[in-house]
Amino acid sequence: MPTALNEALDHIAAKEIKIVAGGTDYFPSQNQGPIKTDLLDISRIPELSGISCDGDTWRIGATTSWSDIFRTKLPPCFDGLQAAAREVGSLQIQNAGTVAGNVCNASPAADGVPPLLTLDAQAELQSVRGKRVIPLNEFITGVRDVALASDEMVTGFLLPNVPLTAASAFEKLGSRRYLVISITMTAVVIGFDPQGRINHARVAIGACSPVAQRLLQLEADLIGKTLGEITLNDSHFSTLSPIADVRGSAEFRLEAVAEQCLRTITKAAQAHE
Ligand SMILES: Cc1cc2nc3c(=O)[nH]c(=O)nc-3n(C[C@H](O)[C@H](O)[C@H](O)COP(=O)(O)OP(=O)(O)OC[C@H]3O[C@@H](n4cnc5c(N)ncnc54)[C@H](O)[C@@H]3O)c2cc1C
Repeated sequence: MPTALNEALDHIAAKEIKIVAGGTDYFPSQNQGPIKTDLLDISRIPELSGISCDGDTWRIGATTSWSDIFRTKLPPCFDGLQAAAREVGSLQIQNAGTVAGNVCNASPAADGVPPLLTLDAQAELQSVRGKRVIPLNEFITGVRDVALASDEMVTGFLLPNVPLTAASAFEKLGSRRYLVISITMTAVVIGFDPQGRINHARVAIGACSPVAQRLLQLEADLIGKTLGEITLNDSHFSTLSPIADVRGSAEFRLEAVAEQCLRTITKAAQAHE
């Protein structure tokens, strides 16, 4: 349980060791058996936690908890991320679970990923060899798969040039209201010019493809439109590939996500008024 980042980096450089932060994904996945792997608990490293802004770049530390995120006063473009933070499990899970844990676990249904994609987040990775920064959509490479070398850890997420005055929203569909895995989720960051026409659009969908993704065609089509002029069609969702599982069929997910998308855009737009 190191208390300094360089100490943690030395440990992961020296031997194979499993990083845990809140442990809310890792420990349940171990089932009942004894844990035979060495664990590196990074939850006591102060420089890994908290939200800061340096010039135009915001930074969310890796071990920032979901509670930290929704309790911090942030500009409106973070409303979607804060709404997602309130949807991650229960309050106990939100107190322990971290942003980097959610991203690195790389579940298709990770609630934090779509809002981070709409903020153009970049993953900041560090090792004893140095630091590198990689766009979030390149960092998550597949189901339970991230582009992390064995001696690297995520130290934070960088958000350069976020559209501070843009509005944002997040919607999650589950089989009940709380404590539920998403069937579909949508995050939106949307900006308007003084005439009420969209001049910035980011829309990301989770739980409908192996990795959450932005809908680039829809984003392009939204530019220049007023809220009343928005029409959605099947081609906007053609990059999604939802699975059928116990929570819903692929067809249901596609139908639900189109409606959810419109609702989330409308919610963000109404927050902007
Ligand atoms: C009851 C319950 C309900 C839940 N509900 C939801 C939900 O509604 N929505 C949702 O999205 N998730 C949910 N989760 C999953 C989990 O709580 C979140 O994904 C949480 O954010 C994980 O963070 P953590 O710090 O606990 O991760 P950990 O369990 O500590 O780590 C998860 C993975 O990430 C790796 N890791 C962690 N930090 C780093 C780092 N800095 N660098 C490199 N690798 C790292 C670990 O090695 C591990 O592989 C739920 C979990 C439980 C137990």
